[in-house]
Amino acid sequence: MNWKSNSQIIFLIVICIYVPLSPNSAVSKIKVVTSIPDLADIAKQIGGDKIEEFSIAKGYQDPHFVDAKPSYMIKLQRADLFVQVGLDLEIGWVPPLVEGARNNKILWGGSGYIDASQGINLLQVPTADPAKLRAEGDIHIFGNPHYWLDPLNGKMIAENIFNGLVRISPENESYFKQNLDIFKQKIDEGTRRWLERMQPYKGVEIFAYHNSWPYFEQRFGIKIAGFIEPKPGIPPSPKYLVQVINQMKSKKIKIIIIEPYFPTKSAELVAKNTGAVVVELAPEVGGQPDVDDYFTLFDYNINKLIEAFKDVGIVPNHTSN
Ligand SMILES: [Zn+2]
Repeated sequence: MNWKSNSQIIFLIVICIYVPLSPNSAVSKIKVVTSIPDLADIAKQIGGDKIEEFSIAKGYQDPHFVDAKPSYMIKLQRADLFVQVGLDLEIGWVPPLVEGARNNKILWGGSGYIDASQGINLLQVPTADPAKLRAEGDIHIFGNPHYWLDPLNGKMIAENIFNGLVRISPENESYFKQNLDIFKQKIDEGTRRWLERMQPYKGVEIFAYHNSWPYFEQRFGIKIAGFIEPKPGIPPSPKYLVQVINQMKSKKIKIIIIEPYFPTKSAELVAKNTGAVVVELAPEVGGQPDVDDYFTLFDYNINKLIEAFKDVGIVPNHTSN
């Protein structure tokens, strides 16, 4: 009995000491929730120690399809800022989570809502009716949503996040601005380095499993000649794979790039019949073991591609440019 009452007293003391402290420490950080880890990493680089970031999807998960778990709803309920890729990337899982979170700040148009695609020069915006495309199973109905794979778009994403942070915490504007400037400078330096490394391979044709790479392709000069998926989100039929094999053979394409979350069977079958290799890249931060921020994302993908080019005997500067 004594022991029990003592422990109850200790418990009460602990509650009295620590509970009043926790709201203070919680208030001091801006809670930023993002749909994908690339946005969380950019938010961290701008928000620094003023924020606490959390990404719902992990880099090794398909960002088009994520389980809308109740724990994510709780994260969103407590969030000061929510950042998403937009277009239709997260259309199947973000709306139910945001609506379920009942947090007015992060609703579309709220002070804590950021659509990271604002100001991005979108590629592959279809002219067809989005509803018709969706009915056909296409998962890129408003334009290609994988725009973070051009590092220069990272600067626009960072601007959008900066604006959101300033709305929530205007007193920290100069701190965020300083971080934004550093981030942009690092992106410019990185891009110069990455471009230099990719320059000798300008025009090299490759195949991709999914249409994740048009922004990367445009920036770095490789050429994606076709896809293993007949349409984004549609798995290939055997008949379609025969066409892919013929096309790759006639163009002598030796590389197929794939994301870590897609089945490799079709890509491997094509590779076996064409003498190509399947190269797994990091489509997002966290998509491969060493890819832990937005800069290593490009380091990793470019290293991996150049390694693969060498392995299949693609000679640097083999095309005039
Ligand atoms: Zn996609």
